Amino acid sequence: MLIRRDGLEFAIEDSAAPIHNRSGKVTGAVIVFHDVSQSRAMSQKMTHQAQHDLLTGLPNRALLTEHFIQAIGLAKRHCKQVALLFLDLDDFKHINDSLGHAIGDQLLQSVANRLTACVRNTDMVCRQGGDEFVILLAEIDHPQGAAQIAEKLLGVLVKPHRIGGQELHVTVSIGISVYPDDGNDVETIMQNADTAMFHAKTNGRNNFQFFRDHMNINAVHRLTVESSLRRALKQEEFLLHYQPKVNLASGALTGAEALIRWQDPDIGMIYPGQFVSIAEACGLIVPIGHWVLREACRQVRAWLDSGLPAVPVAVNISAVEFRHIGFVEGVASILKETGLAPEFLQLELTESILMHDADSSALVLDALKAMGVRLAIDDFGTGYSSLSYLKRFPIDTLKIDQSFVRDIVTDTDDATIVSAVIGMGKNLKQRVIAEGVETQAQFEFLRDQQCDEGQGFHFSHSLPALDFSFLLADGNCLISQNAGDAETDSSLKRSPPLSI
Ligand code: C2E
Ligand code: MG
Ligand code: MG
Repeated sequence: MLIRRDGLEFAIEDSAAPIHNRSGKVTGAVIVFHDVSQSRAMSQKMTHQAQHDLLTGLPNRALLTEHFIQAIGLAKRHCKQVALLFLDLDDFKHINDSLGHAIGDQLLQSVANRLTACVRNTDMVCRQGGDEFVILLAEIDHPQGAAQIAEKLLGVLVKPHRIGGQELHVTVSIGISVYPDDGNDVETIMQNADTAMFHAKTNGRNNFQFFRDHMNINAVHRLTVESSLRRALKQEEFLLHYQPKVNLASGALTGAEALIRWQDPDIGMIYPGQFVSIAEACGLIVPIGHWVLREACRQVRAWLDSGLPAVPVAVNISAVEFRHIGFVEGVASILKETGLAPEFLQLELTESILMHDADSSALVLDALKAMGVRLAIDDFGTGYSSLSYLKRFPIDTLKIDQSFVRDIVTDTDDATIVSAVIGMGKNLKQRVIAEGVETQAQFEFLRDQQCDEGQGFHFSHSLPALDFSFLLADGNCLISQNAGDAETDSSLKRSPPLSI
């Protein structure tokens, strides 16, 4: 290092050559100083670039791995733990696709800044690539410490990001894995945090999950199902079954719920409980849901075209679909394409979907309502509802969850809840339908409480489209005229159309 007269220091390389006289004695030397500040700066810059992400300036995976190995060494010595948080932004791809990469990049930078502000100097936030970030929490005393940070991150990220003159909203799903409980090396801890993050996605996004051993078995299962689902979409292995909805006072068929089935060539029929959450987590629910909507609309239109007295069909919409940009436009274009009048389509949404971001839900619901589509709240009573929103949302129907219906005859609490929901629906001018009606006694209780409609095995299981068309053609009274009698003579679960 040389110091110039003005005090500035600069890096040098020096070399010296002796000066000899004739007799070979050293009489002096030539010393050469070479200014290397530029090349040194360049090499430092290159090292930095190799270890950092260009867009956000955060450390990259290579640097994180280095630090992680050091953190593990320290934790071992000090009997502490190290936590790894794997973060994946929810629906980032849609922001990128719809608003452009420049906005997407700025959002990533804004997220990076907020993440960095949430952790200690000794921790490390790294960008893994795309919309994935990894946070290393060095030397924690207890996994609970990681949970607190995760909670803080969720809270900080959910606040709107001001970018390009607009407010963008983004949430994140977080998986947490801890050294030494969940693995002894970087690779395993990283893998397990990723798996836990996936579970946070299936758990509705915008939450965090700790890694659990059983998740690994599920991870393999998830990958197989995911690739089979892709194939199923391509090879058209999905189909819809239709479950009748019945007017409890008259027995008339009032509508149907379309329920997806997957006819796997090897396994056979697979029910939504086994694949819908996986499709939601990997985003495949969007094209699958699109298929369901189009197929349901096409089918009702075909029934109408063949002269049948078709009824409205309800389609279940998952959270991921509902929040997907372009959902409303998608519904409109399917109605246009199939030529179905909008009042023949009902969308079933759960309370948690609607309450998640109630203000933006209200906008989407208003747009759908303006289009003429009918709206129902599914599984009502199992989620958290704000009554003031419930009043504000343009909802046509409340669907009482089957868990309340199951014990209405034996459990006075459930009976009270069901009566209260029926009363509330009446006051809010919403129709009330009970799902999971399995027995004559449940049916009679609901009818006596003036519940408008019912759906369940007591009236009919869900039916393939052809069987449902027989039901439409049949003039459709689904309950016995003397319904107070024993079960023997009436319900569809014992008689056609199941056997038609
Ligand atoms: P859900 O919307 O609450 O649908 C009612 C479920 O209860 C259906 O199960 C139906 O077959 C079943 N069920 C009907 N009556 C009775 C009864 O009397 N007793 C009992 N125990 N169960 C009855 P399924 O078809 O297995 O569907 C399960 C869930 O999967 C649905 O719950 C819905 O949340 C979801 N799902 C179904 N189809 C779709 C779809 O196309 N898209 C999306 N996103 N989700 C779907
Ligand atoms: Mg439903
Ligand atoms: Mg339901």
